[in-house]
Amino acid sequence: METLDVVVIGAGQAGLSAAHHLLRRGGLRFAILDAEEGPGGAWRHRWDSLTMAAVNGIRELPGMPEVDAADDEPAHRVVPAYFSDFEQRFSVRIQRPVRVTRVEEDPSADGPEPRPLLVHSVATDGTPRPLLRTRAVLNATGTWTRPFRPALPGAEEFHGTQLHTADYVRAEDFAGQRVAIVGGGISALGHLLEIAEVGETLWYTRREPVFQDLSFTEELGREAVAGVERRVREGLPVGSVVSHTGLVWTPPLRAAAQQGLLARRPMFTRLTPHGVVEADGTETALEAIVWATGFRHELRHLAPLGLRNRHGGIALDGTAVADDPRLHLLGYGPSASTIGANRAGRAAVNRLLKDLARVPVAA
Ligand SMILES: Cc1cc2nc3c(=O)[nH]c(=O)nc-3n(C[C@H](O)[C@H](O)[C@H](O)COP(=O)(O)OP(=O)(O)OC[C@H]3O[C@@H](n4cnc5c(N)ncnc54)[C@H](O)[C@@H]3O)c2cc1C
Repeated sequence: METLDVVVIGAGQAGLSAAHHLLRRGGLRFAILDAEEGPGGAWRHRWDSLTMAAVNGIRELPGMPEVDAADDEPAHRVVPAYFSDFEQRFSVRIQRPVRVTRVEEDPSADGPEPRPLLVHSVATDGTPRPLLRTRAVLNATGTWTRPFRPALPGAEEFHGTQLHTADYVRAEDFAGQRVAIVGGGISALGHLLEIAEVGETLWYTRREPVFQDLSFTEELGREAVAGVERRVREGLPVGSVVSHTGLVWTPPLRAAAQQGLLARRPMFTRLTPHGVVEADGTETALEAIVWATGFRHELRHLAPLGLRNRHGGIALDGTAVADDPRLHLLGYGPSASTIGANRAGRAAVNRLLKDLARVPVAA
């Protein structure tokens, strides 16, 4: 079995940034594996009404011009085409669709520490692919494949529609319905504003949402990232960026507030066959519930390495796992944005070049 220096898992913004720096700096043998059918990472799956005007801003990939598209074009068309251009321009070879199922230490390795890692993967039909042996893994698997939905009693009994942001397609699917939108983030507000045009909406959040009167300044962004960075350095589970910034008033949100659409209700306590039981014990009838309750980082394939600490978090030193610098997490915590993903790719490759030059190759 050939031993590579690096396996990059995932070819979204973070994986492609790493690919760019691996190619540019040279000297490391690497492979990139991605579970998608084609370029674009999670952007391939965003809903139609998430247009280029509606996204927060997509940072250009390293070595590429800015993303150039009309405001009304859906991001799920623009970004995959842009990633495809990048892959062609720099002749990036990506093995796809290939899903990594497991990363573990090579039990047969003897020789100097640290041991190499084995990367197990499968094709779309579940057929196992050849094992890869590597000195390091850059994990850039994003969050889209791990939608999070809180467990509430009665969830199985509800007769109406329930779907997560990850499965949201268009507001028209809820025409004429009474719909609960659950969640205090930007996705929840996006769904709420759209569905309110065609149906009746009720907004539920766990905590009272905090709206800021500022526009989203770079400084606010930096403060939010610094907050997440601190948590990750201390090995605490990562929170959402909104939990650090609050929500920012925009003209559409102000208009929605004036129409009474943002009258937030405290989280309901259970579901019933025809609706929910409110925090005050009364029942509310509903036809649908949209769970805009976020995502978790996709790290299940790394479970054999036992990276999580007793807080349930993973302490990082830069992008490297503090206790195991063979592993880097890109697009994780403070780098979970297109700008953060760009930086993480560069930082991880810089660090690997130093670390791998110092460490002899194990047998
Ligand atoms: C609705 C929504 C809107 C957003 N809008 C913005 C925005 O406007 N601006 C911004 O900066 N950020 C935005 N973000 C955050 C954004 O998703 C990230 O910043 C960035 O695009 C994530 O890049 P990534 O490379 O980490 O992950 P992804 O784009 O998710 O790429 C991960 C890749 O890894 C692959 N993968 C996953 N598991 C495996 C596996 N086991 N084996 C092999 N491959 C695997 C996936 O198939 C995917 O191709 C948004 C997020 C959401 C959910």
